[in-house]
Amino acid sequence: MRRWPWLANLDWEGLDAAFPVRIPRAYVEGATAPDDPRLLTVLPDAREALPAPDDHADPVGDALKSPVAWGVRKHADRVLLLLTKRCHLYCRYCFRRNHEPGESQDPTPAEWDALLAWAAGSGAREAILSGGDPLAVTDERLFGVIDALRPSIPVIRLHTRAPITYPQRVTPALVEGLAARGPVWVLVHANHPRELTPEVEDALRRLVDAGVPVLNQAVLLAGVNDDVDVLAALSERLVSLRVFPYYLHHPDHAAGNAHFRVDPARGVALHRALRARTSGIGLPAYVVDLPDGSGKIPVEEWLARGDGDAKE
Ligand code: SF4
Repeated sequence: MRRWPWLANLDWEGLDAAFPVRIPRAYVEGATAPDDPRLLTVLPDAREALPAPDDHADPVGDALKSPVAWGVRKHADRVLLLLTKRCHLYCRYCFRRNHEPGESQDPTPAEWDALLAWAAGSGAREAILSGGDPLAVTDERLFGVIDALRPSIPVIRLHTRAPITYPQRVTPALVEGLAARGPVWVLVHANHPRELTPEVEDALRRLVDAGVPVLNQAVLLAGVNDDVDVLAALSERLVSLRVFPYYLHHPDHAAGNAHFRVDPARGVALHRALRARTSGIGLPAYVVDLPDGSGKIPVEEWLARGDGDAKE
């Protein structure tokens, strides 16, 4: 607490009840000022309690496309399995801030069996393991899921922020287990180059060295990374680490995250500026995940349809 005196002034009791506050110490170890981009995304903010007219209860339409508890299918070739609602760290901008007090954060055994049976029989080509954070479950459970799906689903994707927020989770046993079960693609989630600490870089390197393909998904966040210098530095560092900067997401409109939203026209301008600064292997696609459950489209296309203006 002595290193972060401003923590003592935070009144987060009500905000913690709405969406838990959880921050691994190592994640904020190097942050020395309250405006550090890492702290801005993890410390609760009184603005979270303010409703905005364009909030969505289901910002990316998951509930509209969920034929089974904890499962989502938006595309014929893909199924999404939400293995848990738990994360090592809770990002205040998260689009899945749907933690109801008292409800279970994990599937029941019956839900678990139904989820795996549904996915294995889906005929999908890719299974996306997400959450919450799929690395918040044990190796035993994670590997069990992959092994159960593998005979019928050739490609597994792990969408996890753990290598960034809690790199200690990337143990030799995890790396070995994922490499042995390839192709398993790991999609991490870093928003700012300051998140790429030596420990995080080591975790990413060990995954890549083991032959596990690693991509990054960032979220464009007001006051955090809505700056072309920051975005370029993030891309350059990721490419150096052999991590492809796959997506830059336009922020989804979950209740409580309005203060992180960026005007989409400004986002497009930032993305064009980034394109002028970086090579093709450093340029993420700038996309929005639509609330009607139809999936992601480029933000430029969204604006051209006239939808973007209506939502901002
Ligand atoms: S790690 Fe992902 S799912 Fe978890 S709080 Fe952050 S954005 Fe949400």
